[in-house]
Amino acid sequence: MAIPFIDLQAQRRRLGEPLEAAILKVVRSGAYIMGPEIGELERQLAEFGEAPFALSCANGTDALVLALMAFGIGRGDAVFCPSFTFAATAECAPLVGAEPVFVDIDTDTYNLDPASLEAAIEAVKREGRLAPKAIIAVDLFGQPADYPAIAAVAARHGLKLIADSAQGYGCTLNGRHPIHWADMATTSFFPAKPLGCYGDGGAVLCKDERLHDILVSLRVHGQAVKSDLGGRDIGHDPRYLNLRIGTNSRMDTLQAAVLIEKLKIFADEIRLRNEVSDRYAQGLSDVVKTPKVIAGGRSVWAQYTIETPDRDGLAAHLKAQEIPTAVYYPIPIHKQAVYAGFAKAPGGLPVSEAKSGAVISLPMHPYLEPQVQSQVIEAVRSFHGKGA
Ligand SMILES: *Cc1c(COP(=O)(O)O)cnc(C)c1O
Repeated sequence: MAIPFIDLQAQRRRLGEPLEAAILKVVRSGAYIMGPEIGELERQLAEFGEAPFALSCANGTDALVLALMAFGIGRGDAVFCPSFTFAATAECAPLVGAEPVFVDIDTDTYNLDPASLEAAIEAVKREGRLAPKAIIAVDLFGQPADYPAIAAVAARHGLKLIADSAQGYGCTLNGRHPIHWADMATTSFFPAKPLGCYGDGGAVLCKDERLHDILVSLRVHGQAVKSDLGGRDIGHDPRYLNLRIGTNSRMDTLQAAVLIEKLKIFADEIRLRNEVSDRYAQGLSDVVKTPKVIAGGRSVWAQYTIETPDRDGLAAHLKAQEIPTAVYYPIPIHKQAVYAGFAKAPGGLPVSEAKSGAVISLPMHPYLEPQVQSQVIEAVRSFHGKGA
């Protein structure tokens, strides 16, 4: 039997009848939009992620856009972000009229390099064309970025710090979640993410109540929220008082119901993912470059990504044995034609460019059984001329 890259069906079997009952309950209730599961999920997301406030939204891309909108970021503003990431990390900036400025990454963790970040901010300030406004740090492949160092840079330059934790919801650094350092953290519940729903979904975590209110408003067309009105009676439904340009980015109640069930096993799944990554490290670290997690960090292992000189050869070798692999990411964002015109850190992004030619991700999910995983490990070893 072919080995799945991510085994969502194994998880579905574990979740069993209660998951299907939760879905059916929503179907029967008729509360398809903003049903009671939405508020319940938001409470649970805030609790699990140790954030004062959580807002659910339509997807992880919107979560980033909503974050930038809530900070009032737009035309003439610079948003600093890595290039070795999924396009959405950078895309949110032009979507609100701002510009991404691409920063290089650390060679071991693939996350933002604080030195390249500092240099990029200084360069943008010197040039004077754009106003530095925010940093988006990514928890790539599930591990936390270097938040203490990045938050220090943000504080020094008066910039907002957003954690793009689409791959890292649940990850910690010294026991703390990214929102401990960031002004906002965003995530995605795309099915393949560590915490995924059965369609699209996303969330924004934040620490400030007024900011949360603004996100609530932006999510539904800039409608007036309680703190906008200060107890004033406007004589009609405040939903039809539109105080800001917002959007429609509600999460479906059905997806919230799915996520509530999945959250019940999420901590255990993170533990299982760490067991899988430990087994890979034991079996492979003498033949390929295995992942290195930042000191004090705990990854949720969205991906298990290794490096080897003949990456494409390894992919073909594994494919011949029905072992799927994936390359995240074959082209850094700054090399994509539509992003090529945006600014880059001084000295360019040599690490990001080198990594895109060397990385390859192996099957990774909480239900990867040791015997199956051994097949993957043996196949990688045999390609490198080292048998069992
Ligand atoms: C998946 C992902 C997103 C976007 O999430 P969607 O829910 O697909 O919109 C943003 N950033 C990163 C790093 C991602 O991996």
